[in-house]
Amino acid sequence: MKYIVLSLAFLLCVQGVGAKKRTKPQPKLVVGIVVDQMRWDFLYRYADRYSDGGFKRLMNDGFQCRQAMVNYIPTFTAPGHACAYTGSVPSVHGIAANDWVDTKREKQVYCTEDKTVSPVGGSYKAGMNSPRNLLTTTVGDELKLATNMRAKVFGIAIKDRGAILPAGHTANGAYWFDDSTGNFISSSFYAPQLPAWLSRFNNKRYADSLISTEWKTMYAPETYTQSLADDNKYEGKLKGEKASVFPHNTNTEKVKGYSLLRYLPGGNTIIFKAAKACIRGEALGQDDVTDMLAISLSTPDYIGHLFSPNAIETEDMYRRLDAEIASFLNYLDKQVGKGNYSVFLTADHGAAHNSNYLKDLKIPSGNKAEHEALAELNAYVKKETGKDSMVFDLSNYQVYLNENKIDKDDADREDVKDAVIDWFKKQDGIQYVVDMEDMDDMVLPEPLKTMVINGYHHKRSGCIQVITEPGWYSGYGPTGTTHGTWNPYDTHIPLLFYGAGIRKGESNKTVHMTDIAPTISSLLNIQMPNGCIGEVIEEVLR
Ligand SMILES: [Zn+2]
Repeated sequence: MKYIVLSLAFLLCVQGVGAKKRTKPQPKLVVGIVVDQMRWDFLYRYADRYSDGGFKRLMNDGFQCRQAMVNYIPTFTAPGHACAYTGSVPSVHGIAANDWVDTKREKQVYCTEDKTVSPVGGSYKAGMNSPRNLLTTTVGDELKLATNMRAKVFGIAIKDRGAILPAGHTANGAYWFDDSTGNFISSSFYAPQLPAWLSRFNNKRYADSLISTEWKTMYAPETYTQSLADDNKYEGKLKGEKASVFPHNTNTEKVKGYSLLRYLPGGNTIIFKAAKACIRGEALGQDDVTDMLAISLSTPDYIGHLFSPNAIETEDMYRRLDAEIASFLNYLDKQVGKGNYSVFLTADHGAAHNSNYLKDLKIPSGNKAEHEALAELNAYVKKETGKDSMVFDLSNYQVYLNENKIDKDDADREDVKDAVIDWFKKQDGIQYVVDMEDMDDMVLPEPLKTMVINGYHHKRSGCIQVITEPGWYSGYGPTGTTHGTWNPYDTHIPLLFYGAGIRKGESNKTVHMTDIAPTISSLLNIQMPNGCIGEVIEEVLR
């Protein structure tokens, strides 16, 4: 009998070891890094001065999906952050844009606005935010559900939406930057007060020292061979500056508050400092239950919008960001342990070249601010239908009809839509105008057709989608750049995986932004988010 029991115990033991061997290495911590507005080619464009420990460490020792595409429009920050962590698209997760129009209530809605919560860590209205408008779960939510809420999940960014949407509904906390105080704040959605580690962090007043730091180039300006000369005509100017020349940020006393930090490399520095404080303060990655930290770097987006991708400012910021990433990975090695964590790095969207720059190079392009067209469009619709003010708003490359007025004035909605489409077709730089409520007869090539359907939320998107010609975009005047379209410069994003459970290598297979969340879910052996339409990228996982 004794022998049998011992044999059984031995067998179970052997089976146990065997089962363990078959299990993938489980990270103790997953860190997601979204670099706001980072185009895929920036991994290579500035590579000559990247260190071996930053982007290149993730590329060389991890797995790179070289053809990762955003598979919906509009390509803005909020839908991008939502997509990366939900594996879903605006049509399903509901984050249709940064701001959308509620046509019934005749008002703009901000993606994370929430009047039912109160600010935590500041008395500023910047605190009235939550993920309530997000209709699906995130990877973080699924991780919490899978671990009986034992996993710890946090989001940190300068932009509220960059912290809140990735962290999800059940996050322990999401923290974002308050321009009026220079502190990281939160809302009562998460907790009634800031954790002690974050109050201590805020009390160190890093924002004060970073915002008063002069921004000089790391190398002699003439050695920035990937950029146009400093003070070129496609660059915008920082607040308080008369010319766009290095050294920057020598006149900060004229700018009130801390909003300027968004436009300085220090905006990245403070995020990594806060991320380290969170990992330490919350003991992330210190036990057997996997934790998750979602970091978003908003500064690359602000710098890109202002200076364009061809400016020394952009090149210098990416070089500095690379060094920050290297130092952060070293920190994770020490704090969590090499092999104990996994990282993924991606972007929420890319960016166009400045349209005047392309024009000067004889490449077709253009730039028109859509909201400026509203009066002209409404006048045309009145001429065609006899009805006034039928269009409520033009934003996100979409047309929001004045639904209440159409009802009240007994206007023929189809006639109104026909007039709107007719007007757009006559404008320069417009390639397609899509009636989202009747796409049957629309001749639209793939993948645009899928992208407009994926991006259309019937309660939050405008019912007519406008698609500009390549090189064209709406807004931002003659300098800088923007994003929002279907074109590869807006939709081809970096996608790097690194660390526990991740293979070494790269692939040119086209994958989609919606594939990130299911891949991370598979890595963690958890259910994918509840609105996920993506697929696991098999090559990435061990
Ligand atoms: Zn963005």
